[in-house]
Amino acid sequence: MPACPVCALSTLDGQVCGHCLRHPPAFDHALAAFSYGFPLDRLLHAFKYAGNLALADILAEPLARIAAGHPKPDMLLPMPLHPSRLKERGFNQALEIARPIAKWLNIPLAADACRRTRDTSSQAGLKLKERRRNVRGAFACDLDLAGKIIAVLDDVMTTGATLNEISRVLKSRGAVEVSAWVVARTLPE
Ligand SMILES: [Zn+2]
Repeated sequence: MPACPVCALSTLDGQVCGHCLRHPPAFDHALAAFSYGFPLDRLLHAFKYAGNLALADILAEPLARIAAGHPKPDMLLPMPLHPSRLKERGFNQALEIARPIAKWLNIPLAADACRRTRDTSSQAGLKLKERRRNVRGAFACDLDLAGKIIAVLDDVMTTGATLNEISRVLKSRGAVEVSAWVVARTLPE
């Protein structure tokens, strides 16, 4: 399915979409294994909220296949979860999906490279501009990433505001290229 190479949104011709042309995100590319919808939404829900961790490999495999056809990043960074969310859920869904991919593709996993300093997980109902403002300053990263190519992994990308913010922080630490790897891409409202 043709998609915008920057944000992975389905497009007719596979060209950069109008939104990315008008508001280029801080990440350079995005890969998405699926469009968000039935039955994938059910699988993700069972994985994330019912804690069916056996689904991690099933969700990770199609994304790994796509990622294998792209240049290998220096590190794979699962989207950090705020400590209060981690305590509530018991696991970071992005880390569980990133772990098998890092192993299969032989990419160093950078699970602790960044921290989430604010809990901004509830972004539903916010417009892109509000989402971008809501996540501003939500991440901290102390590593020197000079010259590094980084892939950030998340389960779902909606507007990309959170991925945009973490990518901005990674680039401020010296990363030269950031890719967003997501299991599912939602369609914009
Ligand atoms: Zn785009």
